Amino acid sequence: MRSHLLNDTTAEHYRRSVTEGIERVAAKLATTDRPFTGVTVDELTPRIDAVDLDKPLLDTTAALDELEEVYLRDAVYFHHPRYLAHFNCPVVIPAVVGEAVLSAVNSSLDTWDQSAGGTLIERKLIDWTTSRVGLGPAADGVFTSGGSQSNLQALLLARDETKSENAEHPTKMRVFASGVSHFSVKKSATLLGLGPDAVVTIPVDRDKRMQTVALARELARCREEGLVPMAVVATAGTTDFGSIDPLPEIAELCAQYGTWMHVDAAYGCGLLASVRNRHLLDGIERADSVTVDYHKSFFQPVSSSAVLVRDAATLRHATYHADYLNPRRMVTERIPNQVDKSLQTTRRFDALKLWMTLRVMGADGVGQLFDEVCDLAGRAWELLAADPRFDVVVEPQLSTLVFRHIPAGVTDPAEIDRANLYARKALFASGDAIVAGTKVGGRHYLKFTLLNPETTDDDIVAVLDLIAGHAEQYLGENLVEAS
Ligand SMILES: *Cc1c(COP(=O)(O)O)cnc(C)c1O
Repeated sequence: MRSHLLNDTTAEHYRRSVTEGIERVAAKLATTDRPFTGVTVDELTPRIDAVDLDKPLLDTTAALDELEEVYLRDAVYFHHPRYLAHFNCPVVIPAVVGEAVLSAVNSSLDTWDQSAGGTLIERKLIDWTTSRVGLGPAADGVFTSGGSQSNLQALLLARDETKSENAEHPTKMRVFASGVSHFSVKKSATLLGLGPDAVVTIPVDRDKRMQTVALARELARCREEGLVPMAVVATAGTTDFGSIDPLPEIAELCAQYGTWMHVDAAYGCGLLASVRNRHLLDGIERADSVTVDYHKSFFQPVSSSAVLVRDAATLRHATYHADYLNPRRMVTERIPNQVDKSLQTTRRFDALKLWMTLRVMGADGVGQLFDEVCDLAGRAWELLAADPRFDVVVEPQLSTLVFRHIPAGVTDPAEIDRANLYARKALFASGDAIVAGTKVGGRHYLKFTLLNPETTDDDIVAVLDLIAGHAEQYLGENLVEAS
């Protein structure tokens, strides 16, 4: 069994095995003509059930052959231009090279003695990002597993900064976020023990941006009621609409109330690399903390995310010491242990993927790809707005579109809902394209999240035709049944 350990004696075995794995994926990418095969849960379950984990194959080729059956053949492929559903993105090759390196070297970024240069590389990327945000000289941050964890940590810091100022009971603290903010804000509030009423929902305007007049009113009311305005979460790129809350106005209100300003830029962070559209994030430099998901708009493989803070000292709320890992004396010895800033202990060197990306492509290269998908979304919006078969919600600031099919002559809203739900499911089952869904005003809508610069206008037109076709088919069948 020692022949499977990666070491000085097995370098050739390693090279051959990894290459064989890569060859399988490369062959798959080259021949995939749809984002999905349409396989069902019932078809896949017995194939995976049939694998006896206590009877190993003892051979990489055989295991890869099996993997073809249980995974590779029927996986969802994000590089395909008709995958238009969620934020999981097509990935750039330099990042995938980084991924291969980081898992083989297996650095762990909790302590210097498990990563050495890895720690400095991560720190440099954090500095690079905070300077793009404009957070100032005292800024810091740390890589996380994703935007949800980044939001949780940011709100933890906000809570503990608030607590240190006044000893209020946590259930008196209030967090303000728009009605289209990410659900991890509410989840975080619960995890932080703030109670069920902690998150105050601020309504959005027609463009799905937080109404700052309403925010001002709620902040004032919070104070009047003897409650503590702990944090405002502004979203820079909402999950459904890509809308960016008015950051400068929100920053003003936060300053006025002494409230922590968190900007959830999990999606919109791609603008940090854009020459043309960086200005859409103006105001973000006034945040106390920022969430960025490189695994969304920087074309990085999962996971790659960070939480950034204006004041490095606030990260102390995540600092605990253990004799076996990061004893206090290391602070005076100036040993840079990233675990002192993180909610995690053992932690992947995800930063290496971004490092390779920036070293090979440069930030402008990444920003250009993101600009391209935003441009595509603009053109897709025009197509949708001009097409009587569809109703589209807002003109995109980034690269998502929320819309639905309005079948000719159908006025029953429940029937329109069912037709759209059916169309989404039928499309997924066909594997021809994948789109997402969401609700607007209680009604079912469909959603494109465009993150693939290879998606063309023709792809959009074709997918819209497919959606309309499935919806019409559903209505046709239902009319037959009803008559
Ligand atoms: C995706 C998203 C998150 C959550 O990020 P994960 O990486 O999926 O945990 C948070 N906020 C917004 C606005 C998002 O779009």
